[in-house]
Order: sequence, then C-alpha cells, then structure tokens
Amino acid sequence: MKRLTDSAFDQEEDEKESSLRPKTLEEFQGQQEIKSNLAVFIQAARERKESIDHIFLSGPPGLGKTTLAGIVASEMGAEFKVTSAPALEKPKDLAGILTTLAPGSVFFIDEIHRLKPSLEEMLYTAMEDYELDWVIGQGPSARSIRIPLPSFTLVGATTKAGLVSGPLYSRFGISIRFDYYSVSELVQIIHRSSDILHIRIDPDAAELLAQCSRGTPRIANRLLRRMRDFAQVLGSGVVTLSVVSEGLERLKIDHFGLESHDREILRIIIEHYGGGPVGAETLAISVGEGIDTLEDFYEPYLIQRGFLKRTPRGRMATPLAYEHLGFKRPDHENQGILF
Ligand code: ADP
Repeated sequence: MKRLTDSAFDQEEDEKESSLRPKTLEEFQGQQEIKSNLAVFIQAARERKESIDHIFLSGPPGLGKTTLAGIVASEMGAEFKVTSAPALEKPKDLAGILTTLAPGSVFFIDEIHRLKPSLEEMLYTAMEDYELDWVIGQGPSARSIRIPLPSFTLVGATTKAGLVSGPLYSRFGISIRFDYYSVSELVQIIHRSSDILHIRIDPDAAELLAQCSRGTPRIANRLLRRMRDFAQVLGSGVVTLSVVSEGLERLKIDHFGLESHDREILRIIIEHYGGGPVGAETLAISVGEGIDTLEDFYEPYLIQRGFLKRTPRGRMATPLAYEHLGFKRPDHENQGILF
C-alpha cells in the first residue's frame, strides 16, 4: 500500500489538491500569529510600493510553506515563480530564473538547505543588492560583470533549518517557523476541504480525523479523501464517526495518527537496539527508509508526541513508546548501557 510519505504519491495527490490550496491569507486556516504578522508586512510593503522582505520558512513537510509563499505573491499582486534547490544544478540555472523575473515577483526555492555553495553565493548579492555577479571567460582573462536584477522577494523553505548556512540565513528579513496544527485548526481545514469537495462529514468524524492527521493539513486532506471513498463504497456516502473509525483501522492508522511504519520504527529501536540510543543512519537502514524521510517526516512527529527522544548518542524510544506498542517498560538504570 502507498504510504503517506511516498514522493510519487505526493505529486499525484498534490495535483488533486490544488483546488484545496488556500489562495488568500483569509482562507489559510490556523497559524494566527504567522498570519497576523505577515498581513502587517504585506500591507506595509504594498503601501510603500516595495517588494516584501525576503522570507525564510521552516518546518516539517505538508504544513503550508509552499501555500503561504503563493499567498504572499497573490496578496502582493505579484508573479509567483517556484523551484527547488535540487533542480538548480548550475549557476546558469539560477541566473536564468533571476534575470527573467518580473519586477516584484515572489521567487520560491524549496529545500533551500540543499543549494550548492556556488549558487548560494550568487544569491547573496541578488538578495542584498538586486544584482548578479557574473563571470565571463576563463583563466587569467576571466572578468566579472554585475548584472542588475528586478526587485524580488525570495522565499526560501526548508525542513532542515539547521543545515542552512549563517550567511544565507542572515539575508532573510523575515523568518517564520511552522509548528504542527492543533486539532481544532485541523477540524477547520477538514470542514473547508469538505465544502470544496462536496463531502458530507459529521462533526465527530471530522474531530477524529483531525486527531489522526499528525498535525499536518496535507495529511488531513488526504485522509478526508480516503474516508470519502470508504463512505461511498461501504456506507451511505456520509463520512460518519464509524466510517472514520473503520477507515483508519483499515489504513492501520492509530488514534495518535501513527502509521504502521511509525510503529515499526519504534519497534525496531526497542527490539533490536534495546530501546536505544541508536544512530540515525543505522536506524534508517534498519527500517529501510532514507535518512531524509526518517529525519524530516517520521521523527519530528514521533518526538513531538513524546514517543521518541533525540540524544547526542542517538535516538531512544520513550516509556510512552513501550506502553503504546505493548512492551514491558525498560529498567531505566540499564537502558542504553548494554548497547
Ligand atoms: P509544504 O510546502 O509545507 O510541504 P504545502 O504548502 O504544499 O506544504 O501544503 C500542503 C497542502 O496542505 C496544501 O495543498 C493545502 O491544501 C493544505 N494546507 C496547508 N496549510 C494549510 C492551511 N493553513 N489551511 C488550509 N489548507 C492548508
């Protein structure tokens, strides 16, 4: 079965999701503090007829970083250009985009922590002076020219803020950290999406779905569509509490929102590594997952819900993880020493 993290799944599902993507700040649910600050920055920039300052967005996947960048563009009445750092291989790839931006554009670079150093350096003058340092020729005859750029707003997004270099980070005037959404915020998102998709859902069903969505709007929307399928084929078409309970059971998602793969990660730490600590790379290999997926998708939620601890010596399962998986709690005195 496809998992919620599969990237092919991501793309396919996100295409279907475009109708659900909020287009204005008002439609963007939850994250009140982020929204109210951003509304001020947008209004101020519009009144001064300037581009809004460069924006750094960090936080786990699916929380609305791309969506918010698009909203900034539409609220500013500006063009929105999207790329991701791994797609930018050579300086000319980045220069090609920067030199063809319409004035005032919002330029979004996803996974900005993966930008190559030579491209990162190019961004420094682009961000600071709206100029590009471009080297012509090679060897002793090489010379550098400065190409003026239109003013623009760079929005850099990352799931790994710690990997972004100091010099790059310091050039962003606005930094926003996304946290997981609360259950009540996710309930609002589920109701909004159900209205758009003409899905009838009972309030208690929406509440349960929200609890099991890992604090993540993208997952809430996906689960909603799956529940619509179950309601249509197995029920009366209405997403009721019993449809959601049965649907989640079939998808092996528990009431904390953990998938079977999350439980597998915890089980492996407990059974194979005596509860930890175990290094992230070893763990990734043991669970058959890429280290990035483990660190960006699985771990933050497991840590936030108190199932996993990151220590300098590696990852450890918490007593709550033992309890949730039905293992006997370890003797704390010995935990970790034998391994
Ligand atoms: P990220 O860039 O952080 O991975 P996205 O911006 O692609 O996340 O968001 C994933 C999906 O979740 C969007 O298509 C959108 O439908 C939904 N979404 C995200 N944030 C919100 C929000 N605050 N309100 C409503 N829907 C949201």
